[in-house]
Amino acid sequence: ISLKGLNEFQIRQILNLAYQDGGTIESDDKALIVKEKELLVKKDGMLEIVNFKEEIDDIGGLSNLKKWLRRKSTIFKDLDHAIKFGVDVPKGMLIVGMPGCGKSLTAKATANLFEIPLVRLDVGRLLGKYVGESENNMRKALNLAEAISPCVLWIDEIEKAFAGIGGTIGGNEVTTRLFGHFLTWMQEKENTVFIVATANNIDNMPPEFLRKGRFDELFFVDLPNGDERRAILKIHLKKRNKWNSKIDTIALIQATEGFSGVDLESAVKDAIEECFIKKLKDVSTENLLESIKRTKSITNTLGERIK
Ligand code: ATP
Repeated sequence: ISLKGLNEFQIRQILNLAYQDGGTIESDDKALIVKEKELLVKKDGMLEIVNFKEEIDDIGGLSNLKKWLRRKSTIFKDLDHAIKFGVDVPKGMLIVGMPGCGKSLTAKATANLFEIPLVRLDVGRLLGKYVGESENNMRKALNLAEAISPCVLWIDEIEKAFAGIGGTIGGNEVTTRLFGHFLTWMQEKENTVFIVATANNIDNMPPEFLRKGRFDELFFVDLPNGDERRAILKIHLKKRNKWNSKIDTIALIQATEGFSGVDLESAVKDAIEECFIKKLKDVSTENLLESIKRTKSITNTLGERIK
């Protein structure tokens, strides 16, 4: 299944490479296939390959979402058996919620977990100036995604991508048609393109988009609660080798009410930088509390809208 979308020459090349490094063809050789597919996407230009190193354990909190993804990854990693067994191929998910709370991070971690390439669809890039050009580009982009599948197709800020749907003038008509095309494709798709759509706000999304059958699941990502904030702080401190067990996480949790994931990360970065400049060896709770005080959280800047 991984070799789908490649021509005979490309397949031979990959098998040769895989054979040379180790003498046998093993499941680790999937990386070679992913690389070859990246080249294919780069050449076409309709989609963008996104590189990632984020792992599922780099996401703090969001435990339901992570559990669900782990389940789906069992299917994606063993697709041919799963399909033969009668399992429905997962279609994808929509993640809605607060800015800076891990939506993009999840898109990347999903591709990593499923061991498949991540390609981004930028709807704005598909818009052309001639009649029918945009629809044609959309068709090409979706065909390409199918050709390189299994892959994760990431549509970031989907509410903006299809903004103005239902309008009657100019550009809006085009986005409405594009959207219709995309919906039909999603509804009918029987391929192994796993869609991760992310959005900050779905108030203005047409209800047919959210109907059952389009996405397998819709997740709401809220500002992290206390335990989640602890996990996120720990992840970012550990990543920079500055975690130590003397850090009082209860004090940190109390001081970071209303912080988003990215706010927490920037407080950690700021504290570490400060410690380096002051020539301190370790980061202490006090250093962190000071940098937390300096950080303007999302709730601070966007309070009313978040409410
Ligand atoms: P936006 O809607 O603004 O695109 P987003 O929800 O996609 O926001 P991300 O890009 O995923 O936000 O988050 C930005 C950065 O903040 C991440 O790269 C990560 O370092 C950190 N971060 C956010 N949420 C989490 C989390 N739950 N766990 C760990 N780190 C997080």
